[in-house]
Amino acid sequence: MNRSTMRAAKFVGDDKIEIIEKPVPSIKANEVLLKVAYDGLCGSERRVFHGGFPFVPGHEMSGEIVEVGAKVEALRPGQRAIVYLLDYCGKCAACHEGDTHLCENRKGLIGWTWDGGYEEYISAPSSMIYPVDASFPLDLGVLALDTFGTSFHALRKSNFDPHKPTLVIGCGPLGLGVITILKKHYHAEIVYAGDLSGYRLKMAENIGAIPICVDKDKVEDSIRAQIKGDIDTVIEIVGSSSTLLASMCLVKRNGKVVLLGEPVKEFVIERKTSWLLKDFIIQRSFYFPWSEIKDNIFFIQQNEPIVRSLITNVYPLEKIAEAFSVFFGSDSGKVLIKL
Ligand SMILES: [Zn+2]
Ligand SMILES: [Zn+2]
Repeated sequence: MNRSTMRAAKFVGDDKIEIIEKPVPSIKANEVLLKVAYDGLCGSERRVFHGGFPFVPGHEMSGEIVEVGAKVEALRPGQRAIVYLLDYCGKCAACHEGDTHLCENRKGLIGWTWDGGYEEYISAPSSMIYPVDASFPLDLGVLALDTFGTSFHALRKSNFDPHKPTLVIGCGPLGLGVITILKKHYHAEIVYAGDLSGYRLKMAENIGAIPICVDKDKVEDSIRAQIKGDIDTVIEIVGSSSTLLASMCLVKRNGKVVLLGEPVKEFVIERKTSWLLKDFIIQRSFYFPWSEIKDNIFFIQQNEPIVRSLITNVYPLEKIAEAFSVFFGSDSGKVLIKL
């Protein structure tokens, strides 16, 4: 590396982002320096966009390895790679059982506890760097992370029945990922997709879901009026009290609510007999194990055109504030920053 400084996005709060020059990170013996190609915007970054953040955010990135530390043996400069979120230990009980995403000694999360991908170069332990084939497009590499990784893991864990109706509430990128997997991998027969945004409902319909226009003041009633029969599995991907409550009320007896949404505020659940007097399961699922990445990439390769159709906007780093405004405005699918 002969460059000493690089461009990076500084989130200063009030929906403002400045582009600054900062030093290119130096790497330790077990680390890798990656030149970032793409970074995906994530719904979980709403807080940092509004409130500002001490680190450079960005945790869904792909790129090219430019330098490896002295103790890194399995990776080399020139390889393309995607970056796993967590610095997991590989030794604890969770890691031993394959649950790297639930590591008991995790040292941090890129883009949250150290600088992430809204900058030209990132450093990370080699254990977080997943090399991909030279032919695998790096924009799709981003989707192998949260969009298809988190959604695939939730569905694998849920044991849902593809022959029974499923309802997805929230058709942002994660919801669209869930719908794509439901239709193209599990061949689920009836998938209802609820959202406020007509744009996102159209995207969901194009993948094969039945669109449900949600009234945000009457979430449960507006959904109930547009579905036929019982809903066996509800996948909640909004993270609001009203959508969680509606999910709990709408799911049939002995059914399952999969909670993927990330709440911005506390959940406050109203006491209602339609969930109180019923047997059902709420399953929370967070991110995904390292071991699932291989199968997720295979799925993306097999379904490349439809997966790529989820990417609706690509912006340069200089336009990152505009990218976030468009993304949180709901008339978009997956939004990427191209470095
Ligand atoms: Zn994310
Ligand atoms: Zn561990």
